[in-house]
Amino acid sequence: MLTRIDLRGEPVVGLGVRTLVGMLPRAELDVEAAIGAVQPICEDVRDRGAAAVREHTARFDGVDLPTTIVPREALAEALARLDPAVAAALREAARRARLVHEAQVPAESVTVVADGSSVTERYVPVARAGVYVPGGLVAYPSSVVMNVVPAQAAGVAQIAVTSPPQADRGGLPHPSVLAACELVGVTEVHAVGGAQAIAMLGYGTEDCDAVDTITGPGNVYVAAAKRLLRGVVGTDAEAGPTEVAIVADAGADAAFVAADLLAQAEHDPLAACLLITTDAGLAGRVDAKLARQLATARHAGRIKEALTGQSACVLVDDMDGALAVADAWAPEHLEIQAAGAEVLAGRVRNAGAVFVGRYAPVSLGDYLAGSNHVLPTGGTARHSGGLSVLTFLRGIHVVNCNAAALAHVAPHIDALGGAEDLAAHVQAVRIRVPRDVRHDAGGADAAPVAGVVRGTGEAEVARGAGEIGGAALLLRPDLAGSRPYGAPQIDVPVRLNTNENPFPPSSGLVREIGEAAAAAAALLNRYPDRDALALRRDLAGYLGHGLKAEQVWAANGSNEIIQQLLQAFGGDGRAALGFEPSYSMHPIIARTTSTRWIEGTRDVGFGIDAEQAVAAIRELRPDLVFVTSPNNPTGTAVPLAVIERICAAAPGMVVVDEAYAEFARDPAATALAVLPRYPRLAVVRTMSKAFALAGARVGYLAADRGVVDALQIVRLPYHLSALTQAAARTALARSAELLASVSAIRAERDELVRWLRARGLTVAESDANFVLFGTFADRHAVWQGLLDHGVLIREVGPAGWLRVTIGRPREMDAFRAALEAVL
Ligand code: PMP
Repeated sequence: MLTRIDLRGEPVVGLGVRTLVGMLPRAELDVEAAIGAVQPICEDVRDRGAAAVREHTARFDGVDLPTTIVPREALAEALARLDPAVAAALREAARRARLVHEAQVPAESVTVVADGSSVTERYVPVARAGVYVPGGLVAYPSSVVMNVVPAQAAGVAQIAVTSPPQADRGGLPHPSVLAACELVGVTEVHAVGGAQAIAMLGYGTEDCDAVDTITGPGNVYVAAAKRLLRGVVGTDAEAGPTEVAIVADAGADAAFVAADLLAQAEHDPLAACLLITTDAGLAGRVDAKLARQLATARHAGRIKEALTGQSACVLVDDMDGALAVADAWAPEHLEIQAAGAEVLAGRVRNAGAVFVGRYAPVSLGDYLAGSNHVLPTGGTARHSGGLSVLTFLRGIHVVNCNAAALAHVAPHIDALGGAEDLAAHVQAVRIRVPRDVRHDAGGADAAPVAGVVRGTGEAEVARGAGEIGGAALLLRPDLAGSRPYGAPQIDVPVRLNTNENPFPPSSGLVREIGEAAAAAAALLNRYPDRDALALRRDLAGYLGHGLKAEQVWAANGSNEIIQQLLQAFGGDGRAALGFEPSYSMHPIIARTTSTRWIEGTRDVGFGIDAEQAVAAIRELRPDLVFVTSPNNPTGTAVPLAVIERICAAAPGMVVVDEAYAEFARDPAATALAVLPRYPRLAVVRTMSKAFALAGARVGYLAADRGVVDALQIVRLPYHLSALTQAAARTALARSAELLASVSAIRAERDELVRWLRARGLTVAESDANFVLFGTFADRHAVWQGLLDHGVLIREVGPAGWLRVTIGRPREMDAFRAALEAVL
């Protein structure tokens, strides 16, 4: 019955698409020829609206309707009268289609192309869609589901369905179409078919507002009208006669294959059915089954026309050849009924939809698979896919760019605009970021740089800080868009926000520092001791643990020590790992030294899980690992055993930031104790906290001598002023007196922890001179409430927590009273 196209013995794979397509049958859909017929109709509808639609409907459908709008009651009535089995089937079809199409909706994506410059892709549905549902040879309620559900899944707000009126049904579209509309929730249905329906949707009439996108299958006139209106509205692919290709081998069931060919042919005398097989025996068996099944077929006439017309059986040597034929023909539907069907399906390049194995016939896809049955025909599967939510969505690029990022690419725009002789393009950029003028942070539209009135010695909060616009033209691109960090300093009676020591130096110490400074001042014409040897000797003496001056290094605050460590051991192409929440200057300094920051995590109690830390270190091999202990802002200390596990695993430097070491409940648990065992361990300390010397800016480090030598390479000569060195040495000489305040602070802290817990609050274990407590649904409100009572604490750390620095006893009384008032 099927014509044979015997490609056995031919090098099918190498024949090329054009040659193969030339050998394969397919009904031509001459849309161009129909354009001549539909153009006057479309123009008429465009010019005269509803009156034209009415006339063309009367002419083609033999129905004269005063309005195209189908009354709502007709929809409800059609559903009420629909065979319950059909209604149930449509419901299930819609449910499955909804699942599949909702999963299709693409997520919004944000791509940061450079610091300060990003492109967001937003998918926005069209406002109004028109769906054409044919009602010619057969009425297709399933088409309602297949077109409307994707539009709904895409989020289209208004959906208008149009379907040809039926003269014998009082001018209403087919009742099953109306019922399907009601079932999927469409309320606007028009009784219009053919080209006039497409023109109505595209141009709009008195009865029907113009839509943005038209979808749905139809005859050649519908296709021609859609082609004409392209440019006025969005359209889906032109639907030609339906088609199937079945790739089958000797093992395929001939009856199944025949049934599927027949089912496709049932649609249309122009339907094309291709059996592509490696087995001539199967071809014969399928012919026999076709003859038998055709004898009892309901639509035998059009089936026979299709099967004897543009249909064929293609014989090939192997599955490679079969797939080459299928790909060349690019069928609307492709069935694979052959061994290894799934693998073969994975190799298919051109098809509207692929049906895998003997139990996935096209009929399943037509109705219930959940896949869409509006598919590309006529070989257009080479370049197009079927109907989907994307048909109703537009991807919109949302471009963001700040001044620094624009300045960074401006030279490229200069070059391209110049090459294309589009000087105004160049100017549109240069008017914003002039070539030779520095960007002025104070410019009218520069973002405010709030909260940086002066530094506080502890610069980890960016609240209120605006984007830096200053020196944008000269700023390193990887710093563009960064914000300056600094804590706003609010003048209130009780300041418990910056982890300083609340006890000022004694008057005796103040006098001694003055004398030491005066002595140093007498020599200020000279540079200071570049290596700060005396100070380092004093610091080594203070630290103990057998440390020598060569193993100690000092700088302007431990922040500078950290910067030097990152300059020496981090940098471009290197990475540092920290366990957050922790001291936020670590990642900030990493960034300014071009060191990639890897954000590790802490456990629920803000501790570090040794196993996880070691696994992360082994996997990521960071050049530096930062461990803050006791940690800021949580207060938690990391056990020495965990630090040792980290030291053993780390391929590079391990920096233990012990800024708060003196406040620990067990001061002996310092990483200084294990220094001799780990030559790449650096223990960072500061005089800003326990020594009550934050204003002097002295931080220091203890490490292997090799580490100290490395830091000499990056330190600026004479970085530590003679005055600083003098003040620090004087304070160190009085360390016993200064450290006396530490035990008072520790006692006050432990008391506060008890007090807070007694009030039902959660308090992190603290080995520092501050306490992290919470948790509050609105921590800012609590912070503000305290501030209103004259007590400034810090809104820092994980959401819901607040940090309070231990102050003097009367300050703590004030804090407690304020908190009681606020809570
Ligand atoms: N490390 C930690 C953990 C800190 O909290 C601080 C200051 N808040 C520093 C280092 C830096 O202190 P300084 O530069 O004053 O030594």
